[in-house]
Amino acid sequence: MGEKTVENITVAVRIRPLNQRELASGGEKIWEKDGEVGIKEKNGARNFFYDRIYDENTESTEVFIYQGVEVIEKCISGYNGCIFCYGQTGSGKTHTMHGVRKTNPGLVPLSIDHIFTMIQRSSGKEFLIRCSYIEIYNESVNDLLNPNFLNLQLAEDKKNGIKIIGVTEEVCTSSNQVNSLLVMGEKHKNIASTNFNQRSSRAHSIFRVIVESKNTSGRPDVAIATLNLIDLAGSESADVHGPAASSARSKEMKYINRSLLTLGTVIMRLSDKKNNAPIPYRDSKLTRLLQPALEGDSKVSIVCNISPCNDAYDETLSTLKFAQRAKKIKQVIVKNDTTDSKALIVKYEREIYELQERLRE
Ligand code: ADP
Ligand code: MG
Repeated sequence: MGEKTVENITVAVRIRPLNQRELASGGEKIWEKDGEVGIKEKNGARNFFYDRIYDENTESTEVFIYQGVEVIEKCISGYNGCIFCYGQTGSGKTHTMHGVRKTNPGLVPLSIDHIFTMIQRSSGKEFLIRCSYIEIYNESVNDLLNPNFLNLQLAEDKKNGIKIIGVTEEVCTSSNQVNSLLVMGEKHKNIASTNFNQRSSRAHSIFRVIVESKNTSGRPDVAIATLNLIDLAGSESADVHGPAASSARSKEMKYINRSLLTLGTVIMRLSDKKNNAPIPYRDSKLTRLLQPALEGDSKVSIVCNISPCNDAYDETLSTLKFAQRAKKIKQVIVKNDTTDSKALIVKYEREIYELQERLRE
């Protein structure tokens, strides 16, 4: 699909299996994979194309091969990189990013393992790996490796882009050591919240790995690259929670919407290099922090997670449209330009009525 050029931004969609709740309430699977790069609505109303589609038959290890390996390998050779998961709460972002460490690891542990394997394999270079783990909650940057460090400030750093003042950075020499940082970060998320799942779906969490490398022979070149592994806040719109949403909830939604919207705009402008419009990095902490990892020669991999179920239709469509904007793919075939599911029902009702009329003739 599309022209084959050197792509810095890869956009994939991962469809999770129907969950217990959806099955119990008679939910129907209405989105399905259509070849390697297509996804279609079962009734044929819509189909979309991306760089890759994964469905319930795909393990995270396979997702990593397409969405992770290149980003990691570029990072090892000195280029910044980002891997994101975007989607509504419950769509599979954390499953994709973190997974279950030993039995079904996600992109974060797989990336860490790959970094250390690459380092072991490389010769003539020395590496230093530093890790930090933060969350952005209500536009406040909090250190997940030290629960006392809240609302950290960002500052321009001429050499390395944006720096987080005072953030904990641990030097790591093995995957195991990095994994214990991840475990510690998860624990601190728990402390920060009375309802862990709710809170974590309303914050962006970013695991950052800074890869420094130095030639040990020949010219003493030093390269420094940052890898950002991001589990974004749930993208669902405020009205899913009804008009009774508390004022704390609307504040959270306002911040989430603003940062995800800005992220979408930034990525869209980046994937449309011909358009010289300014890129609004400064409009949210998330994009400001990620600016060095998004611009220039960086590699960006986005996984948009969706539920296949009919009852998530509106949120799924909104995620698919985000993915489309991120990639600016032109070859979207919309066989039926009805955007409203209710209107679609009206259309089908009309077709049935017309068929019945014809049978009567
Ligand atoms: P999110 O982080 O987007 O809110 P989760 O990753 O927590 O969503 O996923 C919600 C539930 O669905 C979890 O129990 C998770 O294990 C399960 N799940 C998500 N994606 C998959 C998948 N591809 N295969 C199997 N289970 C999945
Ligand atoms: Mg999650």
